[in-house]
Amino acid sequence: MSIQNADLHCHSVVSDGTLEPEALAARARANGVDLWALTDHDEIGGQHRARAAAHANGMAYLTGTEISITFANTTVHIVGLGFDADDPAIVAGLRATRGGREARAREMADGLAQVGIHGSYEGALKYVGNPELISRTHFARFLVETGVCADTSEVFRNYLVEGKPGFVPHRWATLENSVRWITQAGGLAVIAHPGRYKFTPTEEYALFSEFKSHGGRGVEVVTGSHTPADFEKYAQMALDFDLHASRGSDFHSPDESNVDLGTLPPLPKTLTPVWDALADRIQHP
Ligand code: AMP
Ligand code: MN
Ligand code: MN
Ligand code: MN
Repeated sequence: MSIQNADLHCHSVVSDGTLEPEALAARARANGVDLWALTDHDEIGGQHRARAAAHANGMAYLTGTEISITFANTTVHIVGLGFDADDPAIVAGLRATRGGREARAREMADGLAQVGIHGSYEGALKYVGNPELISRTHFARFLVETGVCADTSEVFRNYLVEGKPGFVPHRWATLENSVRWITQAGGLAVIAHPGRYKFTPTEEYALFSEFKSHGGRGVEVVTGSHTPADFEKYAQMALDFDLHASRGSDFHSPDESNVDLGTLPPLPKTLTPVWDALADRIQHP
């Protein structure tokens, strides 16, 4: 089966999306997706439902997650695709990565209270589908609901980011562990949306080369987080570092996401897609 429309990055209520896995699958299919992956942050609790819903809609499926790591004092995301979701090491690693979120959320609420925004922990919790996965996105929804900000992108300009109220520095997983969890469970590790990180060229080179040295094999080139200029830049980086290319909307919500499932341009023809390297990991309906 040749893949025409792969979307290998999105979020459900199991992390910080607003749709259930079944609704995401139906939406992906309606937009023409034929290979899909649900990639909740630090969580694989939605994988069985997502695969069943993919198959019910006639789509091929790859298991997925998006792991939060800290690299060069910056939060970076590593997407894992096609791994065994029952592998004990990745299950334990993701659980440990989720572990710090509760305390961090309470500290975020303390920081917001200091600038007069009260009740944000309880307010954010109303949007949380998974008690182990309270994220900045849930706080952002509360700040929009209460009129502090007009939309979530305003929240991420004025709050919850370095130097702004509500920001809490956090140490996530390591690059090495994230890549190891994914690859030892039979999957392929992918650098998520590299265009989003504010790295110097030296730091970015270090990320790509260390990622490769740990066994990482993919990079997102066409993602909802990239501009067309980023598509070109990271297509060249994929060639320079001999990485497979991935494509995914990073869809979170019909109300918040600019890019819908399955609607991005195709990967440049010069690149080798990640799904070519994952042929034996794709779960067909
Ligand atoms: P956390 O894992 O709690 O640090 O939350 C990270 C999430 O916040 C990301 O996965 C996005 O969903 C969201 N986010 C981060 N930056 C922005 C932004 N500038 N605009 C909208 N959402 C953002
Ligand atoms: Mn998110
Ligand atoms: Mn991300
Ligand atoms: Mn994402």
